[in-house]
Amino acid sequence: MKKTFRTHFAIPLLSVLVFAVTSCAQPKSSVTGTDSRKEEGAAFALSKSIEDWQNTLTPEQFNVLINKGTERAFTGKLLHNDKKGNYTCAACGNELFSSDAKFDSKTGWPSFDKAMENGKLILKKDNTDGMERTEVVCARCGGHLGHLFEDGPTATGQRYCINSAALGFCSKADAEAKLANHSDTVVLAGGCFWSIQAIYQKLEGVTNVAVGYSGGTKANPRYEDVSTGNTGYAESVQIVYNPNEIKLVDILKVFFSIHNPTTVNKQGADVGTQYRSAIFYNNEQQKKVAAEVIGSLQKNNVFDKAIVTIVQPLSKFYKAEDYHQDYYNNNKGQGYCQAVVAPKIEKFEKAFQDLLKK
Ligand SMILES: [Zn+2]
Repeated sequence: MKKTFRTHFAIPLLSVLVFAVTSCAQPKSSVTGTDSRKEEGAAFALSKSIEDWQNTLTPEQFNVLINKGTERAFTGKLLHNDKKGNYTCAACGNELFSSDAKFDSKTGWPSFDKAMENGKLILKKDNTDGMERTEVVCARCGGHLGHLFEDGPTATGQRYCINSAALGFCSKADAEAKLANHSDTVVLAGGCFWSIQAIYQKLEGVTNVAVGYSGGTKANPRYEDVSTGNTGYAESVQIVYNPNEIKLVDILKVFFSIHNPTTVNKQGADVGTQYRSAIFYNNEQQKKVAAEVIGSLQKNNVFDKAIVTIVQPLSKFYKAEDYHQDYYNNNKGQGYCQAVVAPKIEKFEKAFQDLLKK
């Protein structure tokens, strides 16, 4: 963050006023033109031409994010924003900071004492203007956000000094409403639920995956009972997804590629009704899509034998015991995970690269 305001970065008031603060959307990448940051030798997941950025950003945003400018202190719209939610990159929607990390540094720029995890930001040495500083860049699109200083007042000792113009804000209430309005659920069974959960967690547009039991009758089944094969329950995964981001047809394409839908009550060495192949639909539309996908696979002889997947309405999904949730992620060293789950995930990742979370 530059501490001095440079007059050639002065922004017309109008563009400050038209800057849209709330942006919950994660704009989809439209990869065209050349990477505007190519001269720096970096490759970003979202690369756009200068013209594209000019068309999608306000002049003030462009000045900060692309030209590495600095907005005038105490002018940013998000400086005094105290709502709960997440701060995003104004250029690409990448979530960068939680409101919990925001503090008033009195410098005139929004300040945060830590970034979100999982490499949302890139830190670079910045020796411009005769100073040694650390530049903060969006890891998704390469947009310039501000600078990081090691003089923060909290336990992290960090002060991310970020231009308000480089940020969007998605309030917690908006995000929850959006999720509620744009989520659908389907339950699938295709053998041991550990690997199926780990695979669906990697799909873009899938917001939650739980493992559990479906298709039986007695209430509140336990793993010990289900594993006898006598309860009617199948090991299942409940997939919550945003239909605007991933289609059910793609969820089912993945499903039919990660298990064998031609064996009755059997997946590899796992035998029993609890390992049957089944799609538990929640509505008529899902039933129709399931029938279409199965019909297409049969018609094109994708499998040597007939598909035996049972398509039935979901009566109830019972969540499995806590130790089964996220089993693969928590037990990667375990024998079954190494021998069976890991190769399955690797195969899936190769086949469905374009559907993976970025
Ligand atoms: Zn970005």
